[in-house]
Amino acid sequence: MMPKLKSIDKIQFQNSLLNWFKKNKRSLPWREQAHWYPVFLSEIMLQQTQVDQALPYYVKFIKRYPNIHALSKATEQEVLSLWAGLGYYSRARNLLKTARIIVTDYQAKFPRDIKQALMLPGIGKYSASAILSIVYNLPYAVVDGNVYRVMSRLFAVPDDIRLNKTQKSIQKISDQLLSNIDPGNYNEAIMELGAVICKKQNPDCIKCPVQTFCEAFKKNEQLRYPIKSAAPSKRKITHHALIIVNKEAYLFVQRPASGLLASFWEFPILEMKKKDIKDELLESELKKIYGIEGKVTLKGDVFRHQYSHIDLTYQPVIIKSNNKKIKYLNNYRASKWCTFEELNELPIHNAHLKLIEWFKNLSQ
Ligand code: SF4
Repeated sequence: MMPKLKSIDKIQFQNSLLNWFKKNKRSLPWREQAHWYPVFLSEIMLQQTQVDQALPYYVKFIKRYPNIHALSKATEQEVLSLWAGLGYYSRARNLLKTARIIVTDYQAKFPRDIKQALMLPGIGKYSASAILSIVYNLPYAVVDGNVYRVMSRLFAVPDDIRLNKTQKSIQKISDQLLSNIDPGNYNEAIMELGAVICKKQNPDCIKCPVQTFCEAFKKNEQLRYPIKSAAPSKRKITHHALIIVNKEAYLFVQRPASGLLASFWEFPILEMKKKDIKDELLESELKKIYGIEGKVTLKGDVFRHQYSHIDLTYQPVIIKSNNKKIKYLNNYRASKWCTFEELNELPIHNAHLKLIEWFKNLSQ
């Protein structure tokens, strides 16, 4: 059962947290300007992503698209290409769609109305609450992974954090704890507390501004919370990633317009049940599926790449081909032969960026 909020003094709690944040907040580029656009851009990037990972991408984006008008005029391929490596690519597509809607329907300003905000592509409860509270000081409490952890510890929440009803209860208690006077700073403060003090493995309770309110600290059971059941197991797949070489050029193909990694470019894939496939079989599959003749020259070490629901094992295979004719696209949208130098504007997803790096190191 969830504990009740009345057990703590709300005003004292808010003051302790806000004072700490005022003195200790990290200097981040989106905090430098009092404008909604940097907040919007950073909050989309920070969905399921830590500040350190998002930071270089934010810097690249703000340089290339310094305002909503510039972003709204970008093409999807340009945005995906800049986003490549950050993962959860639907965010990049939705960012662009939302930028265009904001320019055409909302006079290039993020809407203040939460119902309108929630209708924008890629804007869920978390992002809407973060943007509206930070930009317009509206009282919507954010609950992200950090806040779930902090709340679970503060209130020694005894229920499984994966359950919907537990998440709803934490949202309710966060709504009640929120400062109505300074909701933007309060939200940033509670997320920051989770990110830098109330960390997953080593909570720094000695420096914690709300230690006196914390049930887990009182019981010395910080690491027991949040209570979390095991994650559902992922589907396991093996891909043979074919680095097909013709002189200085490599074959790249564009993924379908929907589904996992939609519209990204990659090396052609053979999805096979077994990992140890003989070279002759790979060559005949290559001919059957893509209509290309080639000879396997090297197989690299396998490596794994995790997606939210898939555990993918990649087997890199280098193939030499003497002709550039690809007969069948095999569900891909397009193909092109290019050198690695010509790839800069092409969106390539993370796993295949790793393959490119591996291949470049090999050739040096
Ligand atoms: S006292 Fe420790 S466990 Fe409790 S909120 Fe602070 S950092 Fe987290």
